[in-house]
Parts: sequence; C-alpha cells; structure tokens
Amino acid sequence: MKNRYDYLVVGAGLFGAVFAREASMAGKKCLVIDKRGHRGGNVYCEDVDGIHVHKYGAHIFHTDNKEVWEYVNSFVEFNRYTNAPVACYQGKLYNLPFNMNTFYQLWGVVTPADAKARIEEQRAEYAHITQPANLEEQALTLCGRDIYERLIKGYTEKQWGRAATELPAFIIRRLPFRFVFDNNYFNDAYQGIPVGGYNVLIDALLDGIEVRLDTDFFKNRQELDSVADRILFTGCIDEFFDYRCGHLEYRSLRFEEKRLDTDNFQGNAVVNYTGAEVPYTRVIEHKHFEYGKQPHTVVTYEYPDSFAPGKEPYYPVNDSKNTKVYQEYQSLARQEAKNVLFGGRLAQYTYADMDDTVAAALDLFRKEVL
Ligand code: FAD
Ligand code: UDP
Repeated sequence: MKNRYDYLVVGAGLFGAVFAREASMAGKKCLVIDKRGHRGGNVYCEDVDGIHVHKYGAHIFHTDNKEVWEYVNSFVEFNRYTNAPVACYQGKLYNLPFNMNTFYQLWGVVTPADAKARIEEQRAEYAHITQPANLEEQALTLCGRDIYERLIKGYTEKQWGRAATELPAFIIRRLPFRFVFDNNYFNDAYQGIPVGGYNVLIDALLDGIEVRLDTDFFKNRQELDSVADRILFTGCIDEFFDYRCGHLEYRSLRFEEKRLDTDNFQGNAVVNYTGAEVPYTRVIEHKHFEYGKQPHTVVTYEYPDSFAPGKEPYYPVNDSKNTKVYQEYQSLARQEAKNVLFGGRLAQYTYADMDDTVAAALDLFRKEVL
C-alpha cells in the first residue's frame, strides 16, 4: 500500500519548516508534526498585548549569506534592527562588542592609538603565558585584566556553570576588538527582525502544509513510522536511538518573564549582566526588537541552568566526550535508519544560527529531493 505522505517532518522548527516548504513546492506531500503546542521551535514568539516575546531566548537574524537573506525576505519583510547589547558590571554600563566606546568607558582613552597602547599594556602583564591552559589564561593573554574581569569572567562562568580556570581555552581563541565607535554586535552584511515577529516567517513557510501539534513522534511511533516514505527527524538524535550510546549533554536556560507597567524599562533590547553577584546573564526587553510603542513592556531574565530530562536542551556541550557519543549515533543512523534524514540543531548536535539552519535545510532538500 502506498504511504499517505512522501515525507514525515518531525519538528516544526526553522529546519523542518524550510525543508517542508521546499519539498511541497517540489510536489512532495508532507506531514509536519511537533510535540509542542505551537510551530516555530525555538524561534517562536508569544504575543503579549502586541509585544512579540521571544519565548526561547532572544533571536536576531544576521547573515552574510545573500541567498539565505533573500530567501527569508521572500516570506516576510525584515526591519532594520541592529543588535547593540550593553553590558552592566557593578552598576556601570559598557558597550559591546569591545569597541572605541568600550575603551573610552573603561579607560577614558579617546583615540584608536591610545586604545591599542592601553590594550598592549594590559596584555604585557601576561606575556609569560605562552600556552594558555584554560579560558582564564587565554582571555588574560588576549585582552588583559580589565576587560576580562569586568566583561568576560562572570558572564562566562555563569553561562557554563564552571570556573574559567576549568573551561577549555579554545572557547575564546579570538576576541574581536574594533577600533571604531561601532556598537553593532555582528559583522554580517544583513541583519534584522521579521516585521510582526518570527511566527510570520514560520506561518508563511508552512502555509498550505498539514501540521499536527502536540504530537510526540515517540509516543505515536508505531503509526508515524509508516505514514511516509521518508522521515526528516529534527529532534534529539540520542532520544531517536533510545539513548543506546548514552545521553548527549546540554546546557539549559531558565526564563523569568515579567510584564511591567512602564513603556521603557531598560532602553535597550539586550542588557548583559557580567558580574558574578547577579544570578542572571541577561535581561531582554522584547519591544525594542520591533521599536514597540506600547504603554507597557515585557522583560525576560535569562538564567543559565543545568540540563536534565524534561528541561529544554539549549546549548550542546561539544567537547571530546560528547563528540564521540554523537559520532556513535551518526554511525547508527547510517546503519539502522536508512529512510530517515537527520537535520537541525538537535539531530546534528550542534549550535547553529538561524541563517546556517536555513542554509543547511536548503542543502538537504537539494541533495535529497531534487
Ligand atoms: P528547533 O527550533 O529546536 O526545532 C526543533 C523542533 O522539533 C522543536 O519545535 C521541537 O519541539 C520538535 N521536536 C523535538 N523532538 C520531537 C519529537 N519527539 N516529536 C515531535 N517534535 C519534536 N540564532 C540566530 O541566528 N540568532 C540568534 O540571536 C539566536 N539566538 C539564540 C538564542 C538561544 C538561547 C538559542 C538556544 C539559540 C539561538 N539561535 C539564534 C539559534 C536558533 O535558535 C536555531 O538556529 C534554530 O532554532 C534551529 O532550528 P531547528 O529547527 O534546528 O531546531
Ligand atoms: N561573553 C562574555 N561577555 C558578554 C557576552 C558574551 O564573556 O557580555 C562570552 C561568553 O563566554 C559567551 C560567549 O561570549 O558564552 C558567546 O556569547 P554570545 O552572546 O556571542 O552568544 P550566545 O550567548 O548567544 O551563545
């Protein structure tokens, strides 16, 4: 008997939505399922009285890939939002990324030559460290004590839940310094937020495609395994194989959301808290992503959290131990799941920005369907 669908797409996140869109356009019949009660995966926004709240962490679309930029713009218009986060350390504010504004705030230097001289002076103190053994040594040799202690140490230790002396040096091989007064966090050519929020993009991608929400693949596996000729799976690869090679580790996050009766709480979409004494890493004021004019505001406090079953897997821990486990799953995928494609950040156990996710989904479609 012929299957009812060409593709079962497990996961209505960005990867699954782009793949389903392209496959449908190529005449393939797709069924998209998601265990959550909404579409969009981690880019989903909830409308709180007109403010689009990024429920799974702040999302700013930025890319150097012209094809991807034109692709997403063909579904939704993007505004001109430019990410310019501010760091707060012991009550003082510093611009990010490290640029002339930051150097002025740190040391009062006003010319690029003076800023460079100051950084060299700071680095010289650690010239004896020729082979940094951990993140702390790496950061000190790259930028010196002032930047490390005020803007890096606390944030990084909170983010990873470990002392900087116990984190690998490779996490920050490079710390970009900019000797111009430019607070744009990203170097990419294109940047913005979809007008109306990310749901507009996801809804346009999934327009006309059958989507079943609140449907967990594993709870309906018997039926779902045979509804389609092929499956695109964008969930956790270790769960797909019933954790046979062990659990892949993640870092999680906890969000505390507040609706406030003020029109402007912090004057910026993103404020990072870089001190150890503050338990959260950043505060997001969502309306500023879209220049909102509402009389109220919504803010989210972001707390790094350890991962355990039942919590959201946010950041993969791509160290050698987990890489080895992931490779074992990849080999199981090749041997035992020949009609299953694995795509997206969870099935590929990787941190991927949205533009890379779109590019990877388009690539997979071209390889598999065309
Ligand atoms: P997801 O969005 O996770 O979608 C996977 C979907 O599969 C989910 O909806 C899930 O419910 C579903 N699913 C899983 N298992 C099952 C199952 N068993 N049955 C049914 N459904 C299932 N990128 C940027 O470009 N800019 C940013 O500013 C940015 N900020 C980020 C901030 C945070 C905190 C994080 C963690 C990521 C950020 N990203 C950002 C990356 C962005 O979130 C990803 O690129 C994108 O979400 C990846 O899409 P995906 O479809 O692969 O995964
Ligand atoms: N980081 C930091 N101070 C900051 C912001 C970032 O030290 O104010 C470091 C930190 O180690 C963090 C890394 O840079 O893990 C990447 O942060 P970014 O904001 O670029 O990415 P995300 O938090 O979205 O992964």
